Amino acid sequence: MSALLELRDIKKSFAFRKGILQRVVGQVNAVNNVSLTIERGRTLGLVGESGCGKSTLARIVVGLFPPTEGEILFDGLQIAGADIPIDPKFSRRIQIIFQDPYSSLDPRLPIGDSIAEGLVIHGIGDTKSRRKAVLDILALVGLPPQAADRYPHEFSGGQRQRIGIARALILEPEFLVCDEPTSALDVSVQAQILNLLKRLKGRLNLTMMFISHNLAVVRHIADDVMVMYLGHAVEVAPVNELFTTPRHPYTRALLSATPIADPDRRGERIKLIGELPSPLNPPSGCPFHPRCSYAYDRCKTELPAMITAGGSRVACHAVEAGKLPPA
Ligand code: SF4
Repeated sequence: MSALLELRDIKKSFAFRKGILQRVVGQVNAVNNVSLTIERGRTLGLVGESGCGKSTLARIVVGLFPPTEGEILFDGLQIAGADIPIDPKFSRRIQIIFQDPYSSLDPRLPIGDSIAEGLVIHGIGDTKSRRKAVLDILALVGLPPQAADRYPHEFSGGQRQRIGIARALILEPEFLVCDEPTSALDVSVQAQILNLLKRLKGRLNLTMMFISHNLAVVRHIADDVMVMYLGHAVEVAPVNELFTTPRHPYTRALLSATPIADPDRRGERIKLIGELPSPLNPPSGCPFHPRCSYAYDRCKTELPAMITAGGSRVACHAVEAGKLPPA
């Protein structure tokens, strides 16, 4: 299998401004030296608490933010670099589904026109062929042809997310970023949308990055999982490996707090100490050390590098030193 998307040492900093004059008073490092590879046809789940940098990373991948440092390669070609946003030639091949599709739909436009917008922007087809493409894509996402002439307020949350998926897929992308696409939906509708995405992925041979704070959802849809904490990647593993043998203390804490139906799963809930630190003033050394019950002196001063442990990649001094008890 070949890599479709590769991120190399991606960093994203934002200026933090304050006061009437909006003076820059600091930098927030939202993403810190994140590297990852997603092979064609696979889905990477990206998990972590809100504020961990996963949505910023998604926006970098679709070209909404240029990275401050690092490189993005797509199908072997560099398409973005330090302060250089994604080459527009590639934007059609990488699309995104947002958590709230309603906010991206123009309330005055019939949804058929909203779905066709990407085709118009990229100068694809004429009025007749675009209409046909809209009706085909509506059928693909399970909506009737009459939906094309209705307005956004006439649809339920689940139907709107189907519209969001149709808008992303009309350009026939190869790579789809799903940014919390089900977290605003009722549980029963969540399952329908997840199953639809899984079906479409197989049918259209998509490669995906799926962002969620819900580990059960990620387990259902992802092949591999990357766990992020305070802008850092802390563990990357195939989905079964991560759920059966979590290695990083933060992954263990997240898993212990997630209700997952699995008779083989034992163990008590691991409580995280304290709050998520401010990214404006991150801890020294391992960013997780103030909340980690395994932290020792080295953790306070030295940022752990990613190492290979079994089938996973983990950034933790205690894992490297063999000091952690088995999960
Ligand atoms: Fe905990 Fe230290 Fe590992 Fe960080 S490096 S997760 S503080 S044991």
